Amino acid sequence: MNIENKVIIITGAGQGLGRTMAIELAKKGAKTALVDLNEEKLIEIRELCEKAGSEARYYLANVADESSVEGMVNQTANDFGQIDGLINNAGILRDGLLIKAKDGEINKMSLSQWQSVIDVNLTGVFLCTREVTAKMAEHNNGGVIINISSISRAGNIGQTNYSAAKAGVAAMTVSWAKELARFNIRCAAIAPGFIATDMTAGMKPEALERMTSVIPLKRMGTCEEIAHSAIYILENDYYSGRIIEMDGGLRL
Ligand code: NAP
Repeated sequence: MNIENKVIIITGAGQGLGRTMAIELAKKGAKTALVDLNEEKLIEIRELCEKAGSEARYYLANVADESSVEGMVNQTANDFGQIDGLINNAGILRDGLLIKAKDGEINKMSLSQWQSVIDVNLTGVFLCTREVTAKMAEHNNGGVIINISSISRAGNIGQTNYSAAKAGVAAMTVSWAKELARFNIRCAAIAPGFIATDMTAGMKPEALERMTSVIPLKRMGTCEEIAHSAIYILENDYYSGRIIEMDGGLRL
């Protein structure tokens, strides 16, 4: 796919990876539909995308809410007249142990702690992809879906909810690549390891050092390196059903 003038929806575009992917796509001439829960951040990122030289619009939407997603996708299709790509990037963390012994008692991960992560990180990806691919099929013009999974999809201590969601996202990527090829829609994923974001910038140097010491490349990845992978997936018409591991060699 030639990215220039293509309409790409990016969820969770307000900060972190989503923000950088939006700017890097705008630099390549893509028209961006920026989705997030925070209007202030969306206004700022829309300006940055426009400064990069491309049309950008923003949509306040909750990816975990069916009618909110339906409304956002319909509005995007009306505003731009087409949708060529979707990056399912919005995600949250609610880390905790499944059970924890404290003062002679056993504390349990609550159902809401489990459900909130499943709702955003798994159901959100399902809802956005269902609505966007329905539009793509209607327009009969193909398209590309990119899911952001995680190194944690292999299972990680303290991340029962997050790992389950990210493993589900990886599995849906393969299912959708097989199902949607008949509509000329490709689907692929990126599984980042530790990426430097505003969140990690606020961490103590000792904690950062501990984290990076176990990465073979001895540093965190950058948001730009993740955006580079997203651009690769969009541009390479034979890439589908696979997951790019962006973890500096960390995964066993
Ligand atoms: P981030 O900085 O927390 O940004 C996530 C964005 O998603 C925020 O702007 C957030 O908005 C938005 N969001 C959250 N819930 C939403 C919802 N229900 N509907 C719409 N937008 C929502 O995260 P990040 O570090 O850039 O990570 C982006 C993606 O990469 C996530 O899927 C994450 O799991 C994955 N990932 C990140 C890393 C890493 O090292 N950073 C590693 C592996 C995987 P508000 O802040 O306004 O709520």
